[in-house]
Amino acid sequence: MNEENLRATDFIREIVEEDLKNGRYQKIITRFPPEPNGYLHIGHAKAICLNFGIAREYNGVCHIRMDDTNPVKEETEYVDSIQEDIKWLISGWAQGSLGLKEADREPPAVEVDGKLDFHAQVCREPGVKTEPFYASDYFEAFYQFALKLIRIGKAYVCDLTAEEVDQMRGAPDKPGIESPYRNRSVEENLDLFQRMRAGEFPDGARTLRAKVDMKSPNVWMRDPLIYRIRHVSHHQTGDKWCIYPLYDFAHCVSDYIEGITHSVCTLEFVVHRPIYDWFLEMLDLPRPLPHQYEFARLNLTYTVMSKRKLLALVQQGKVADWNDPRMPTIAGMRRRGYPAAALRLFCEKIGIAKRENTIDVSLLEFCVREELNKSSLRVMGVLKPIKLVIENYPEGKVEELEAVNNPEDPQAGTRKVPFSRELYIEEDDFRETPPPKYYRLVPGGEVRLRYAYIIKCVGLEKDSEGRVHTIRCTYDPDSKAGGATSGRKIKGTIHWVSAPHALKREVRLYDRLFNVEDPADESDGQDWMTHLNPGALEVLPNCFIEPFVKDALVGQVYQFERLGYFCVDEDKAQDGSNVFNRTVTLRDSWAKTQKK
Ligand code: ATP
Ligand code: MG
Repeated sequence: MNEENLRATDFIREIVEEDLKNGRYQKIITRFPPEPNGYLHIGHAKAICLNFGIAREYNGVCHIRMDDTNPVKEETEYVDSIQEDIKWLISGWAQGSLGLKEADREPPAVEVDGKLDFHAQVCREPGVKTEPFYASDYFEAFYQFALKLIRIGKAYVCDLTAEEVDQMRGAPDKPGIESPYRNRSVEENLDLFQRMRAGEFPDGARTLRAKVDMKSPNVWMRDPLIYRIRHVSHHQTGDKWCIYPLYDFAHCVSDYIEGITHSVCTLEFVVHRPIYDWFLEMLDLPRPLPHQYEFARLNLTYTVMSKRKLLALVQQGKVADWNDPRMPTIAGMRRRGYPAAALRLFCEKIGIAKRENTIDVSLLEFCVREELNKSSLRVMGVLKPIKLVIENYPEGKVEELEAVNNPEDPQAGTRKVPFSRELYIEEDDFRETPPPKYYRLVPGGEVRLRYAYIIKCVGLEKDSEGRVHTIRCTYDPDSKAGGATSGRKIKGTIHWVSAPHALKREVRLYDRLFNVEDPADESDGQDWMTHLNPGALEVLPNCFIEPFVKDALVGQVYQFERLGYFCVDEDKAQDGSNVFNRTVTLRDSWAKTQKK
C-alpha cells in the first residue's frame, strides 16, 4: 500500500479545511506537546501522526513543544528520547513540517496597541534549527500574563492549603465555596505575587488562582490554580524560578505565543476547554486565537499506556528499560524492529474519532508484517536445532546454493547459501511419532530442504534417555532445482542451515507483555501488574543462522523463513556476537496458543 494514497480524512481535518477555506487562518500551525516525564508510547504516535500529518497535508508546520512546567517529574533524558523518537517516526514523511524555534530562548514582552504580545518573537519557519520549543521558554511571558490577570482583577493570591482548595472546590452537583482571600486588592495581589516569585514563601504557602466562578457546573472553572510555589531546579531554567504555572494556564498561553491554530488533544480535556478559552479571552490578545479540539485517545489490547504505569515497570525491574522490546514505547518498538512506516500505517488505519474504543494489538502486528514483508531480506535460521546428517553426501563437499533474497522485491537479488553433509533443522520439523496431517520429516519419510534436495529419514541416534539428537538421512542427488527428479511431488518443505557454516546466535522471542486484554482494568480487585505475562521474553542462546547475516547492523530486520521477522538488537551476547529480537511472527498465532 502506498502511504501517499492513504490520505485520511476525519473531523479535525474537516475543520482545518473549513478554516482555511473561509480564511480564518492563513497558515496551519499544530503542535505536539509531550510532558518530558517519560518516554513516548504508541498512543503518542497517534497524536504525532495526526498533528504532523495535518501540517504535512495542509502545508503548515507542527511544533514539538516540551510541556515542561512541572520540574518535579521531568528529566533531560526524557527530553532527548522524545526528540529522537519523533524524528525517527516522521523522518522522510513529515520532516519538512517541523516548526523549529530560533535560538531566542526567552521572548521579551512586546506591547502591540497597548496589548501584551509575545507572538512575534517566535520563529515559525520550518527547518531553521533542530531545537524543539519549550514551554519553559515562556516562563517570563507566563509571569507577565499573570500580572495582567491580577491587574484586571481576574487573579488573586490565595493562602489556602492544597487540601482546603480541594475541599472547597465542591463537586459538579455541589457549588464550591469562595476562598476568603478572593477579594484581596489588586495592590496586595501584585505585591504578594511578586514576592512569591522572589522566593519569600515556602512551597505550598500560597498559590495564584484565576477568579472565575465558584458556582460553575464545570469544576475546572472554579478558580483554578495558575501558579504554585516549588523550590526545585528545572532541567531547562535551573534555579531561576521557584513558582511554576499549571497546565490550564500554561497550555493555552503557549499555544497563543507560538501562533498555534488548532490545538488538538485527547477527550479528557473537553472539560478544560472553557478555561482554555477563558484565559485567552481575559488576556484580550491580538487575534486570531488558537482553538482546542479533542479526539479519542488510543487504547490497545494487552497493553498499558500511561507513563506512570510504564515508569513503574521500569523502576520495579519488570522490564529492562523504557526501550525494552516488550514495551509499548516508540523506543521499545523501534528496538524490536517495528519500522516507522508500520506505526504510521497503523495510525492511518485506526483513524481519528470522538468516541473512545480499544484497538486490537494484532492490527499493529498486521501493519508491521505488511511493511516488513516488502522490505526485509529472507534468510534461513534454526531456533531450536537438531542435527541432521546426510549419509550419502560426500564428506568435505560444500555447495553454494542460490536463494532469493526477497520475492517481493526483485531488486534485492539472490545470495549463495552453503550446503554440506551436516545440517541443523528445526526440532519441530521432525516427529518420531507424528500427529495426523504432519507433513514434515518422520522416520522413513521424505521432505524437501528449501533451495536444496529431497531427503529421506533413514535412522535416528538417541542419547541415554532416549532423546533423538541426530537424524540420519539420505538425499536424492537429482532433486535439486533443475535436476531430473526436481519435480517430484513432496508435501513438506523445511528450512535448514549447514552446521559447519552456521553462525551461532542468541535469539530473544517476545510475546505480549500482559496476558489479559485490559490489564489496567482493576475492577476485579486485581492489581494491573499481576497480569504481566511471564512468558513475554524467552531467550534462546543457541540458534543457528546462515552466514549471510554475519555483518548485520543494529536495527536491521530479516525474515527468517517460516519463522517470522527478526532484527539485530543493540545488546551483544557474551561472546560479542549479535543478538536477534523476534520482531513479529509470520502469522497471528496468539489466538491459537490461547486456546491450548
Ligand atoms: P499518559 O496519560 O500516557 O501519561 P499524557 O497524556 O500525560 O500521557 P503527554 O506527554 O501529556 O502524556 O501527552 C502529549 C500528547 O499526547 C497530548 O496531546 C496527549 O493528548 C497525547 N496523547 C497521550 N496519550 C495518548 C493516547 N493514548 N492516544 C492519543 N494521544 C495521546
Ligand atoms: Mg499529560
